[in-house]
Amino acid sequence: MYDGIVQELIDEFGRLPGIGPKSAQRITFHILQTPTFDVARLAELLTDVRERVRFCEVCGNVSEQDRCAICRDPRRNPALICVVEDAKDVSAIERTREFRGLYHVLGGAISPIAGVGPDDLRITQLMSRLADGTVQEVILATNPNLEGEATASYLSRLLTTMQITVSRLASGLPVGGDLEYADEVTLGRAFEGRRTL
Ligand SMILES: [Zn+2]
Repeated sequence: MYDGIVQELIDEFGRLPGIGPKSAQRITFHILQTPTFDVARLAELLTDVRERVRFCEVCGNVSEQDRCAICRDPRRNPALICVVEDAKDVSAIERTREFRGLYHVLGGAISPIAGVGPDDLRITQLMSRLADGTVQEVILATNPNLEGEATASYLSRLLTTMQITVSRLASGLPVGGDLEYADEVTLGRAFEGRRTL
C-alpha cells in the first residue's frame, strides 16, 4: 500500500481488464519515474477517445462517424455479412485480409449464466439489415466456446426461414478460446474453410 494519490492511481489501473495489482503498480511507477512520459498526451487521448468514438449505427463497430470506415467503403461486398461478438473481433478478422464483406457486431453472446439473452444483443438490427434481400450469406464468427456456439445455433435457427446461406467458421480455431487471440493464419484458414449450416 502507498500513500494517498499514488495508491488511488494503482487502484484505478487495477480496475482495468487484464491488469492485476502488480501491473497496476508497474504502470503507476512507469508514469512517475519516466522523465519523458507524456502525461498530458495520455490524459488528452483518454478524454478524446470517450468524446469522439462511438459505435457505427449500421454494424456496431467502433467509429468516429455515424458509419464506420468499413460500412462506408464502397469496395466492400454488401452481399456478405460476418457476425461477430465484439468490435475487437472485427479487427482480428480484418488482419487476416480474407474477408471483403461487411460486419455485424452483436455486442456479446448468449449466456444464461451471465444473464445475457438474445434481446440483449443486436439481433433485431441484424434481422432488419437482412430484410431487403441484398445479403446472400451470413457468416457466423462468434467465439468457439459455449456462449459463442449457443449464439451461432440460435442465429442459424432464426435464419433458416430466409433465403440466405448461413455458414460457420471452420474448426481449427482453439476450442474454448477467443477469436481475437487466434493468429491470422488460423483465422484466415477458418474463413476459407467455413461450412454451410
Ligand atoms: Zn459499420
